[in-house]
Amino acid sequence: MKKSEDMLAEEKDLKEMDKEKTGKVWLAGAGPGDAALLTLKTAELMERADVIVYDALISAEILSRIPETKEVIYVGKHAGNHPVPQEEINQILVREAKKGKHVLRLKGGDPFVFGRGGEELELLIRDGIPFEIVPGVTSAAAVPAYAGIPVTHRDYTSSFHVITGHARKGGRVELDFPALVRLNGTLVFLMGLSSMEFLLKGLTEAGMDPDMPAAVLENGTSAGQRRVTATVSTLKEASDRAGIKTPAIIVVGKVCALSEQMHWAEDRVLGGRQFLITGPRQSSSSLAGRLRVLGAQVIEMPAIRTEPICPNERLKEALDAFGTHADQEWLVFTSPAGVDIFYDQLKELGMDLRRLFVRGADARIAAIGSGTASALERRGLIPDLVPEVYSAAALGEALAQSAEKGSHITAARAEKGSEELLPPLLAAGLSVDDIPLYRTVYETHPFLQEKIREMLENGEIDAVTFTSASTVRGFTGGIKDVDYGKIRAVCIGEQTAAEAAEHGMQIQVSEQASMDAMVKKIVELYGKEAPQNQI
Ligand code: SAH
Repeated sequence: MKKSEDMLAEEKDLKEMDKEKTGKVWLAGAGPGDAALLTLKTAELMERADVIVYDALISAEILSRIPETKEVIYVGKHAGNHPVPQEEINQILVREAKKGKHVLRLKGGDPFVFGRGGEELELLIRDGIPFEIVPGVTSAAAVPAYAGIPVTHRDYTSSFHVITGHARKGGRVELDFPALVRLNGTLVFLMGLSSMEFLLKGLTEAGMDPDMPAAVLENGTSAGQRRVTATVSTLKEASDRAGIKTPAIIVVGKVCALSEQMHWAEDRVLGGRQFLITGPRQSSSSLAGRLRVLGAQVIEMPAIRTEPICPNERLKEALDAFGTHADQEWLVFTSPAGVDIFYDQLKELGMDLRRLFVRGADARIAAIGSGTASALERRGLIPDLVPEVYSAAALGEALAQSAEKGSHITAARAEKGSEELLPPLLAAGLSVDDIPLYRTVYETHPFLQEKIREMLENGEIDAVTFTSASTVRGFTGGIKDVDYGKIRAVCIGEQTAAEAAEHGMQIQVSEQASMDAMVKKIVELYGKEAPQNQI
């Protein structure tokens, strides 16, 4: 098609605008770890920014929300574990913004609470780069909250104070301990783990009651959160005994004693559990959401993405001829994503669904499993056939049995879909049109692959879920050099399980091919006994 002059002019304007797009930096807090504590604004910026600059404290669960195509820059540690100097980070922000990019600078907790946010702004201001600050949920309040410690409580304390336990240049922190004791409030120390002894001793020597309750809270709000409660005089030893590591905060004050009765986070049905969900984002998110409601931390690894084939000439031809081949004709679907894409294509082709069913043939619908069936039901089609067992082979067998002799089958499914669907159909003498609707693209951000690999090695992930054989292939394609034998795989059906078993994973299979059944299986395997109303 020849472009009109107007269109060309408009394109030119857009290009000019792009060139002139001025960069901007959003200095945003990502909260303490639990992805549900991201603010709406930060979550939205993660979708919209051109580049995301993030550091070490950002959890895998949060990183897994970054779209696969997004540019990211890690400024946590250089190779060899050296921290990236602040000056270098500042320069990266300036450089990216000067390219005209929208830069999201993502920091743990709140950017201004010991986050060096102020230092990063100074250079932006000097270079005249526009910016916005997006406050985040600070660990200083959220980590105690997840441990059942209210930082204030009218019966015990009327203030809380956030203090750094880290000295600027390697030396000791300068703290006025008598003043801290006189405050009579809850004291929250960040970055204080390595100087814990010095801090607690400083407080008791300045007159604090040695029996004052105190707590150290590791990795708060995440699945791995741990809490040690003691007193100012015994906390150091208790913490060492438990092997508490960074990131951790120290809380000193009467409210610490309340955690005995107010703890809650780890008591949820799936509290303390972390799962890796593989599969296209469209479908993985519903499983992820349901596990999160039950208290789990969930990393979404969209190892695969479905890409519709568009325009789809073969589908058009098949639909134009549907109902004209035989007395009975079947339309077959093998995934919920396939159903959605089928409908999108109908719209694209300007085709009304009713046209398929008025051509004289007895038109039937088949679905591979209950998930696909409900995707059809939502669109007003109740499948005539859903086999008991979820697999392409079972679908082929069931169809071969149910279809009338001489029927015609139109399978609308993935390009390179399972080869096991067709043989039983062909053996039964049925004619088959195998129409590719979408192709599967395998992809995961390399930084996320690396992080997941590390977490699997450290045993931080309780189980990995797979909802199709292609999710297993996507996962093993992206995560290499790990001992798959250590991985506990929760699979949606036998075919998926067979693929996971080939890699030597430990297999569990859900009773049915549905998200409900997957959740049920996970709760059965990893859940705590819980009051009925929590499930
Ligand atoms: N800007 C951050 C704090 C950065 S300083 C905020 O507002 O939370 C880094 C320190 O924060 C760590 O040394 C630790 O003391 C604390 N911290 C951050 N996240 C934490 C977490 N999930 N659990 C425990 N402590 C955490």
